[in-house]
Amino acid sequence: MSMEIAKRLAELKESLPEGVTLVAVSKTKDDAAIMEAYRAGHRVFGENRVQELTAKYERLPKDIQWHMIGHLQRNKVKYLVPFVSLIQGVDSPRLLREIDKRGRKAGRVIDCLLQVHIAEEDSKFGFDREELEELLAGGSLLVMDHVRVRGMMGMATFTDNTAQVRREFASLKALYDRWLEADPRADILSMGMSGDYRIAIEEGSNMVRIGSSIFGARD
Ligand SMILES: *Cc1c(COP(=O)(O)O)cnc(C)c1O
Repeated sequence: MSMEIAKRLAELKESLPEGVTLVAVSKTKDDAAIMEAYRAGHRVFGENRVQELTAKYERLPKDIQWHMIGHLQRNKVKYLVPFVSLIQGVDSPRLLREIDKRGRKAGRVIDCLLQVHIAEEDSKFGFDREELEELLAGGSLLVMDHVRVRGMMGMATFTDNTAQVRREFASLKALYDRWLEADPRADILSMGMSGDYRIAIEEGSNMVRIGSSIFGARD
């Protein structure tokens, strides 16, 4: 088998500043590809579909830390709660409450990131500035003791306009900093993918989610 994945992973890790966590996005990739990264020492993987994620969790080594990075429907939370390491795409208070409820039942505190809508592109998903303020001010976080909001996640517009991408990441960093003032326990700002992670890191990201630069293009 080729060692392309291990090689690209090693080069990428070498290039990341200290303190930046790499999430290897393995969606659509098979077990062999994931195991090549695993044997190279990598343990943090991201998937965006619940069924694919749970199936891979069942089959693959149990010390892998699985991140859910895609949109999550409330009725599927229960499948992830027993094992998920970080739910990155929490985009509504209702979803947060469901995770709290399921976490309580399972006896786990679930680490979450709030997905924030920063891109120009229309999207149904993600908090906007006002909704974040409301969540902070409303006090509901204080009564949810089975979720731990570790920080924020966002995606920039898919564009060649790097100034725009930079501006969008900077706007998320500003929101994260405001959140930190109210909740100093937060410690994760997840932004940056294969095409824009360097800009994201320059703008303050400490977690990048990278798929195609490690595993090759997806079909
Ligand atoms: C697919 C995906 C990534 C990785 O994208 P690449 O361009 O392959 O690095 C990162 N974040 C999310 C939310 C994704 O869905």
